[in-house]
Amino acid sequence: LAYTGIYTDWTREAILAEVEKQMKPSRFQHVLRVEACSIQLAEKYGAAVEACSLAALLHDFSKEHDPESMKAIVLSEGMDSEMTGYGSEIMHGPVGAYYAKTLFGITDEAILGAIRQHTIGGETMTLIGKVLFIADYIESGRAFKGVDEARRLAEDSLDEAAYFKIEKTIIHLVKKELPIYPGTIYVYNSWIQRKV
Ligand code: GDP
Ligand code: FE
Ligand code: FE
Ligand code: FE
Repeated sequence: LAYTGIYTDWTREAILAEVEKQMKPSRFQHVLRVEACSIQLAEKYGAAVEACSLAALLHDFSKEHDPESMKAIVLSEGMDSEMTGYGSEIMHGPVGAYYAKTLFGITDEAILGAIRQHTIGGETMTLIGKVLFIADYIESGRAFKGVDEARRLAEDSLDEAAYFKIEKTIIHLVKKELPIYPGTIYVYNSWIQRKV
C-alpha cells in the first residue's frame, strides 16, 4: 500500500521506520495488525483506506513515551489536565494525535480525531474513528474473553461493536478496581443513552 501524499509528505516506509523506533517489537507488531484489520474494515464499510491505514500506524505512537514528556504536551497544548492521572493509558491517544500533526504534518481532522479517541471512543465518532477503535480491539493478536463476540459484532455493525467495547471496557476497569477517567464514563453515557 503506497501512500498518495494527500495526507502527509512521509512515505509509508518512512512512517513505519519512525513508528518502530518508538516502541518494543511486540507493540510494533500490534500496530501492523491494527493496520491490517483497519484496512479490512475500511474496505467492508467504505471508509477511506489510506486514512485508516495512517491512523492505525500512528495510533500508539506515544504509548511508550515518557509520561513526563506526555504531561508537558497535555499541559502546553491545553488538553484536559485530568488525563495526566492515568499513566500513559489516557494521554497516549491525544498526545499521539499531537505528533501526527506536528511531526508527520497530518491535518485531516478525521485521522487526528481517530488517533485522539482510540482508547476511550467519543460521543461522536467518524467512520475512520470507529474503524480504528474496533480494529485496535479485535486485531488478530487480541485474545481476551469476549473478543470473538466483538469480532462477530464487527461483521454486521461498527456501532454494535463500538458499543460492546465501551461497555466491556467499563466492566473490565471496575473488576480490576482501576480508576475510570471521567471522559470514559461520559462516552459510555452518550452511547447508552442513544441505544434503542
Ligand atoms: P492499546 O494502546 O493498544 O493497549 O489499547 P488502548 O489504547 O485501547 O487502551 C489502553 C488501555 O487503557 C487499556 O488497557 C484500557 O483498558 C485502558 N483504559 C481505557 N479507559 C480507561 C480508563 O478510563 N481508566 C483507566 N485506568 N484505563 C483505561
Ligand atoms: Fe492505544
Ligand atoms: Fe493499540
Ligand atoms: Fe485497546
